[in-house]
Amino acid sequence: MIVQKKYQFWFCTGSQDLYGDECLSKVAQHSRQIVDELNQSGELPYEIVWKPTLITNELIRRTFNEANADENCAGVITWMHTFSPAKSWILGLQEFRKPLMHLHTQFNEEIPYDSIDMDFMNENQSAHGDREYGHIVSRMRIERKVVAGHWSDPIVIGKIASWMRTAVGIMESSHIRVMRVADNMRNVAVTEGDKVEAQIKFGWEVDAYPINEIAESVAAVSESDTNALVDEYYDRYEILLEGRDPEEFKRHVAVQAQIELGFERFLVEKNYHAIVTHFGDLGALKQLPGLAIQRLMEKGYGFGAEGDWKVAAMVRLMKIMTAGMKDAKGTSMLEDYTYNLVKGKEGILQAHMLEICPTIADGPISIKCQPLSMGDREDPARLVFTSKEGHGIATSLIDLGNRFRLIINDVECKKNEKAMPKLPVATNFWTPEPDMYTGAEAWILAGGAHHTAFTYDLTAEQMGDWANAMGIEAVYIDKDTKIRDFKKDLMLGEIFYR
Ligand code: MN
Repeated sequence: MIVQKKYQFWFCTGSQDLYGDECLSKVAQHSRQIVDELNQSGELPYEIVWKPTLITNELIRRTFNEANADENCAGVITWMHTFSPAKSWILGLQEFRKPLMHLHTQFNEEIPYDSIDMDFMNENQSAHGDREYGHIVSRMRIERKVVAGHWSDPIVIGKIASWMRTAVGIMESSHIRVMRVADNMRNVAVTEGDKVEAQIKFGWEVDAYPINEIAESVAAVSESDTNALVDEYYDRYEILLEGRDPEEFKRHVAVQAQIELGFERFLVEKNYHAIVTHFGDLGALKQLPGLAIQRLMEKGYGFGAEGDWKVAAMVRLMKIMTAGMKDAKGTSMLEDYTYNLVKGKEGILQAHMLEICPTIADGPISIKCQPLSMGDREDPARLVFTSKEGHGIATSLIDLGNRFRLIINDVECKKNEKAMPKLPVATNFWTPEPDMYTGAEAWILAGGAHHTAFTYDLTAEQMGDWANAMGIEAVYIDKDTKIRDFKKDLMLGEIFYR
């Protein structure tokens, strides 16, 4: 389901025609070698494409406009090998509309002490040329990523790789289409928001459909297709009857299989990548979509419960940004549900009524069938599991009335201390950074929601850079957070983002 273009990044080296052909040929040779070796590192999620050295206003402007027009180009990496007078860059930068990185590197790692002369210095002056270029980008208030260090350093390559995922998130954000088959849950504030502003800021299309249109698509799924999917479920997951009649249990599971197929066909037909539902608005559906939604999330769809289209879009965005990642640990919607406040064991039990993505599961996944305490439908089947240990980020995008704010909390996911045999939903359990109490206080001061878009596979820096590229505020709750400073951050945001 995660459909993405074969994105590439352009590598543009700046110079000028003052240095003579011999110097410029070395500049080109060096930048080609850097591009080749970066591509061969095996660490980059996308290919880098070398471009001829940029030495004139005309060429710079033309190259940036070609980058704009090339559908596969997800951003430009710039580097000044020599000195490139930065007024030459103004027109090109003014017209450039894609993610920009300034790689502040130089070809040689060490100063060649024995042989260095003025010719060498004039040819290798990134320390000097990159400052001239950086100045104009700052003066023009253009959002860009600056990465400093030798291009062969694994840390530098890791930063380029990480930024590429952010850049693809920036590019793909404007293709996200969210289907609402239910409105926001009545009276709930934090899941609401300005959909027009979200389309202006993020490019998201958020459209409503009557629930019974998708319910018709579900009803149209044949019994044989449904049964084939039920067989797949029974092969893949443990079946926990818990005293229920096996045939009756299977009929409940089949309802979810039919919903999965009907929803997926409807989403594909209408070209949507994320969906919201609401337990209180199910039309002709026999069960709240549980297992069905969990499977769709696993396939790469975004999801938000109770009409929460912001979370649906964010989950989709994070799934795109982590697509194809080696050893990915998963991305899901989650909800802060219940605390453990025992000293030294503090944490937040994360769950939802049903809809947690199985990509975050650790160990076996079971199907259970249990009544819902809310709503008026038959007992829905759902996937139940616990989640992986380790570091992750929980994000909440909120609408403050005049603007959006992205709250990003680093969290440490842990095993539940004990089994919870009576809890029939998938869970995660984490302790927010810097500690349970500061983390929760900061989250509440920032206005963070109870629904989050969570991932093990992205960093706060990546999501913060995405937010900055969208022109919205990002606030970080992590090991450095102190409430007094955090409140100042929020106050600064009030002034800066209007
Ligand atoms: Mn909820």
